[in-house]
Amino acid sequence: MRFPVYPKYFVRGGFILILFNDRLIEREEAAVDIEDRGYQFGDGVYEVIRIYNGRWFLFEEHMERLERSLNEIRLTLPYDIDQFNSYLHELLKKAPVSDGIIYLQVTRGKALRSHAFPAETNSVVTAYTRETPRPLSDLHAGIKAHLTNDIRWLRCDIKSLNLLGNVLAKQEALENQCGEAIFHRGDTVTEGSSSNVFIKKDDTWYTHPATNLILNGITRQFLFQLMASLKMPVKEEAFKISDLLNADEVIVTSTTQEVMPVISVDGEPIGTGSVGEWTKKLQQAFEDKIQQLAEVK
Ligand code: PMP
Repeated sequence: MRFPVYPKYFVRGGFILILFNDRLIEREEAAVDIEDRGYQFGDGVYEVIRIYNGRWFLFEEHMERLERSLNEIRLTLPYDIDQFNSYLHELLKKAPVSDGIIYLQVTRGKALRSHAFPAETNSVVTAYTRETPRPLSDLHAGIKAHLTNDIRWLRCDIKSLNLLGNVLAKQEALENQCGEAIFHRGDTVTEGSSSNVFIKKDDTWYTHPATNLILNGITRQFLFQLMASLKMPVKEEAFKISDLLNADEVIVTSTTQEVMPVISVDGEPIGTGSVGEWTKKLQQAFEDKIQQLAEVK
């Protein structure tokens, strides 16, 4: 696979090269049209994929979810998915990162501003890599979380560019000296502003089922496998705010936050107020998977 335009050099640390549809261009050349529907309506979907030690982590799973999100908003890529995959691999080769991410998004492209879909869609794909260190000290010590009302729309299962509800919640958490906001709809806990939530009570993990009310996290699904291998029972069952506050252990999970311990919620300590034993075991199992990845030839 060859790009029509070649970067002049390889760039370590990412972000300086952008995949723009079928071209790989330098950051300064990349410009989105003012009438792009992603810009004007948030009309598009995205993914964030982890890179550990220069290698993809759960790539196929993220690409499958992207295809699902695209389907749900009735949008198609400008080329087939295999072509997209090879462009992404070329991007990582040309702009390598060691511990980083690849961010990619697809919008419904440029059209005269009108809510309905344009008669002809020219979807716009952009992607870049970026060095993103693992949040090691938070993973070790745990973070504080803040409860907030889930004011988002009813299709949280779509990884939409529209993130206003999530943005406002995260800001509110930070202003309350917390690392993550945990959403509730009425009495039911749904997910984090950029993560899924698990609680451990007695000998079982609980997490909200993958309905329209949450994003079905790739990390969440990966953890089901780790929990099975550790013989930790897990139930996809909605739980209440009181269950969260009375849990033995709480974690939030995501591509960048990994298996993040939550040690207090709105000032109320969870369990002993320190990182729990089941959480540590899960973190170790996660770490082992990352290590295995580094060993793959
Ligand atoms: N829920 C929301 C609202 C998120 O933004 C994210 C992070 N993208 C997640 C859950 C976790 O998803 P993943 O494990 O695929 O990163």
